[in-house]
Amino acid sequence: MITAYITHPHCMRHLMGPTHPESPKRLEAIRARLALTGILTHTMQSDAPPVTRETLALAHSPQYLDALEAHAPTQGLHELDGDTHMGQDTLTAARLAAGAVVRGVDQVFRHQADNVFCAVRPPGHHAERGTAMGFCFYNNIAVGLAHARQRHGVERVAVLDFDVHQGNGTVDIFKNDPGVLICSSFQSPFYPWRYQQGQWDNVLNTPLSAGADGHEFRRRVEAQWLPALQAFKPQLVLLSAGFDAHRDDPMGGLNLLEDDYYWVTQLALDIARVYAEGRLVSALEGGYHLDSLATSVEAHLKALLGLPLGHP
Ligand SMILES: [Zn+2]
Repeated sequence: MITAYITHPHCMRHLMGPTHPESPKRLEAIRARLALTGILTHTMQSDAPPVTRETLALAHSPQYLDALEAHAPTQGLHELDGDTHMGQDTLTAARLAAGAVVRGVDQVFRHQADNVFCAVRPPGHHAERGTAMGFCFYNNIAVGLAHARQRHGVERVAVLDFDVHQGNGTVDIFKNDPGVLICSSFQSPFYPWRYQQGQWDNVLNTPLSAGADGHEFRRRVEAQWLPALQAFKPQLVLLSAGFDAHRDDPMGGLNLLEDDYYWVTQLALDIARVYAEGRLVSALEGGYHLDSLATSVEAHLKALLGLPLGHP
């Protein structure tokens, strides 16, 4: 198995203030853990290229792209919403984050990698077609998905999102799109307070009550996602891989553990193997407790690499 690991040093330069939880320390913690355990050396590492404006426009409105560029500050922070701020390095980092997913999609379709993890920030799944919110600017997974359709002619793509927050941006962009199946597990009621009613045929919402643990998560995912994925037969599997549903994460109230992330990654890989020639691209979304973020990404990567969870 070849697992690609795509990131970029510039993703560390996007700053939203000294106390903001979506900080460069997240990527630092992940890299330190993967280096310490040797997992990084099992992967095929590369730097993300910046996404083009044309590719961004497959998922976002031109007016929105113009507005972001117009508001990008040369110093200080520009507030887009209460917790989403743009600094001078934000858009460069955001272009690389989306570009990572685009490169990942190209790698799996060109048989350069079996699967891909994009260790990037800012995250993407709250970014709607015309709205930045929830620490997100460009919807990285949505941009990669749209690119996969345009460049590689893929007709059916599944997006699996196990962040503690529902991926409202991805729903906004692809609601009622028969070529996309979105499966999203999340704490409910909770942020983002929108798009959580299941009124679209192609959106499978799996709300979990605060306090739900891995047993409940697995039971619901198996009962709801598996039959839908088997019926849909995706030709590409994309993961919005947020790790803020971990028990130790201060952002949410779910109680997942590393082995639950290993499990759901294996489930996604199984679907990709059966229907998509193994093609799977995963992108980092949330995860704010640095230690559990790092060990959860480690478990995720072990599954992608086909290593046992107990691999030293
Ligand atoms: Zn989240």
